[in-house]
Formats: sequence, C-alpha cells, structure tokens
Amino acid sequence: MEEIKLAVIGKGGVGKSAITIRYVQDVYAEYYDSTIDDSKRKQTTVDENSYVLDIFDPPAQDEYSSLREAYRYDTRGFLFLFSLTDRLSFEQISVLHAQLLKDKDSDEVPIILMGNKSDLIDKRVVTSMEANELASKMKCMYIETSARSGDGVEHAFEEIVRCVKSVEDTF
Ligand code: GDP
Ligand code: MG
Repeated sequence: MEEIKLAVIGKGGVGKSAITIRYVQDVYAEYYDSTIDDSKRKQTTVDENSYVLDIFDPPAQDEYSSLREAYRYDTRGFLFLFSLTDRLSFEQISVLHAQLLKDKDSDEVPIILMGNKSDLIDKRVVTSMEANELASKMKCMYIETSARSGDGVEHAFEEIVRCVKSVEDTF
C-alpha cells in the first residue's frame, strides 16, 4: 500500500496534536504531549485507492525548525494549521508558506490551509473571508476544522491526499 508522509505545521497551541489525534484515533485529546510520539499512522481510502498516512506532528515550539524537520522525513503534503482564535497564528502562515516555497524552490507544493477551533465561536478573530483570500494566494484549499467536535478533520486529510496525488501526477 502506498505510504504518504504528511506534516502539520503551525504555531504552538493551534491544535496540531489535537487534530492529529482526532484524525488517527477519533478522540479529542485535550492535553496531549507529542514529545512522547510525534508520528501517527492511519490507513485510509481516497477515491478508491488505499493509503497509509504517516503524520508528523512536530513537538517543537519553533515552526521553522519543524518545517526543516519535515523535509528530513520526505514529507509530501503540508497541513498549514492556524487557530481561528489566534490572529498571530494566522499571520504567521504567510511567512511559513513563503519559507516552504523558498526551501522547496517550487510553487507546486501540496498544501491545505486549515483554520482550527471552529467550535469556539465567541472567541473567533479570523473570518472565513480573509482565510479564503489567503488560501487563494497560496493556491490551495481552505478548510475550517475543530479537533474538539471533529468537524472538517476527515475532509482536510482527504483533500491533502488528493492534492498530493494531483500535484505529483502532473510531473
Ligand atoms: P499544538 O501545540 O499545536 O500541538 O496544540 P495542541 O493540540 O496541544 O492544542 C493546544 C490547546 O488547544 C489544547 O488545550 C487543546 O485542547 C486546544 N484545542 C486544540 N484544538 C481545539 C479545538 O478544535 N477546539 C478547542 N476548543 N480547543 C482546541
Ligand atoms: Mg503539539
């Protein structure tokens, strides 16, 4: 079965671990220490093809070293995660994205933009409109998620697999 390595990239506290655990185990891990085990695997079927997804959930607080670490693991798809309740985490995505394109020397890197914590409606500070604008600049899909409720999580992982396959198939 084909294995696809993915990485979840974003500021500390946006929910990288919670999203990964929600996807892999379908539970909400409110306090999860990813220093224990930073790689998670799950078998899935997308468009009638089966894959094993190997998801890197960086334990590091430093997003740049997390990106570099992801390259070492031959990561084929990047899930850029910010929190809808944290503007700084949103603003940081552009910088991380620019860094990724520069490092890869390509603008055909498979990416999904994810706005997490959609369940915290009252604490929301980033609108869908501005997130969609950013996604169109990044030429990728934008999906809102909640690790807590599970909303959007399956969808995001399915779409990153499609994105990986379609980018690679054009070469
Ligand atoms: P990481 O540093 O990016 O790995 O973030 P964590 O997964 O450790 O999550 C940081 C905090 O945000 C934890 O207290 C989580 O319980 C909380 N959190 C993560 N995702 C969600 C979500 O979708 N909704 C809510 N309400 N809290 C979340
Ligand atoms: Mg974590």
